[in-house]
Amino acid sequence: MTVRVRFAPSPTGHLHVGGCRTALYNWLFARHNGGVFVLRSDDTDLERNAPEYQQDILDGLAWLGLDWDEGLVVGGPHGSYRQSERFARYRQVAADMVAAGHAYHDGATAEQLEEIRRSAALRSESPVYDGRHRLEPEEAERRLTAGDPPPIRFSVPRPGATGFEDEVRAEVVFDHSNVDDFIILRGDGTPTYHLASTVDDVDYGITHVIRGEDILSSTPKHLLLTEALGAPPPRYAHLSLLNGPDGKKLSKRHGHTALRAFREAGFLPQAMVNFLAILGWSPGEDREIVSLDEMVALFDLGAVSRNPAVFDVAKLEWMNGVYLRGMTATDFAEATRPLVEADLDRSLTETEAASLESILPHVQERARLLDEVPAQVRFLFGQEVELDQASWDEVMAGPGARESLAAGRSALVDAEWTAEGIEGALRAMLESTGLSAKRGLQPLRVAITGSKVSPPLFESIAVLHRETVLGRLDRASGLLA
Ligand code: GLU
Repeated sequence: MTVRVRFAPSPTGHLHVGGCRTALYNWLFARHNGGVFVLRSDDTDLERNAPEYQQDILDGLAWLGLDWDEGLVVGGPHGSYRQSERFARYRQVAADMVAAGHAYHDGATAEQLEEIRRSAALRSESPVYDGRHRLEPEEAERRLTAGDPPPIRFSVPRPGATGFEDEVRAEVVFDHSNVDDFIILRGDGTPTYHLASTVDDVDYGITHVIRGEDILSSTPKHLLLTEALGAPPPRYAHLSLLNGPDGKKLSKRHGHTALRAFREAGFLPQAMVNFLAILGWSPGEDREIVSLDEMVALFDLGAVSRNPAVFDVAKLEWMNGVYLRGMTATDFAEATRPLVEADLDRSLTETEAASLESILPHVQERARLLDEVPAQVRFLFGQEVELDQASWDEVMAGPGARESLAAGRSALVDAEWTAEGIEGALRAMLESTGLSAKRGLQPLRVAITGSKVSPPLFESIAVLHRETVLGRLDRASGLLA
């Protein structure tokens, strides 16, 4: 049996990090088993679908490096992989199910359904619609010809229960007393998620449905539909949801949840994939850094945790730093140069590119995010430097600022112009003035690089021309006077 899995996002919003983890686990499972990964579009909600969301999903998966074998864009043997283009098929299935007695036209009015809700609430039970208002065939026929088609509901066998062995959650059983006779085709002829999703899973030969736990309560419905379609049931794996660090369900309150935002903030796709992979799965031995190839080799659905995983951005940032440091100096320079040029809104000259390259290794050692880099290296370009007001207020108000600027200047006038030479001269200056490293050097850092957060000071000074450095110290002294 060839493993066939699918990722089935609805293009009604930006690709969410939880969806990315679902896509990744499907992809890993397919790759580990030499299977097929299908990408389909659950675009039945014609009002809320938007082409830009569809594009966002495609871009996001491509950015993460998750390629698919069948489905959107690449096509495949099953025709369209868009649900919006398969309504005829769903309508046919619904009609067949009515004919076979698995489903019926329903006549419940809004008031009748409300009444069922109200009386269930009185008994503190959840409302379950059991088909008590189903239409006789003649009445259904009359409404169809009158152009007022009733919805079609699936007839859930009562009493009864549906159970299955979930790959992640082990045995799950739903008693039918808690399962509605659910709508499969609305009066307006549009299919519900339950019908479209199940028909697609059957038609596309999906062997394993790996998806979020939010859908767990729909699975008995899908199993009943699959059985009525006469198809073998797929295996199911429901992934726990993602929580924020406070233990509450991950939401916008915790910060960004769209993949796009992380991409724009300068995270590396490799770090993102690694971070998503270990949200609920571990390669073993407490390892956290794991390459894509290793993940493919080691991935095991049975080892996925059923506990909620914590989406902790601080950890993602740490991991991103690990991946940034793992880049070659050349790759790091190639990745950052466009960001620096965008920040300056112009191309770098040869000389500027050379000084950028000489400072970048020091930046790479400490960076957590690529998009921190432009601000940190801005001081390299131009005679003057933009002074960060907060840094200035904090550092220049302190005692010793004026003395540091003056003594630093004298030390640098004839220092040997290398990082070591500059360090030697400034340490001697600290010695002779008695200033601490903080009091004596922070004012120089702010005056020369514009900020109290910069690449290492001696290296930063050494890449600038002596005249530029002295000019910046003079300007700062002038502003202090
Ligand atoms: N379109 C559904 C969603 O975005 C897919 C659920 C499923 O995998 O069945 O949640």
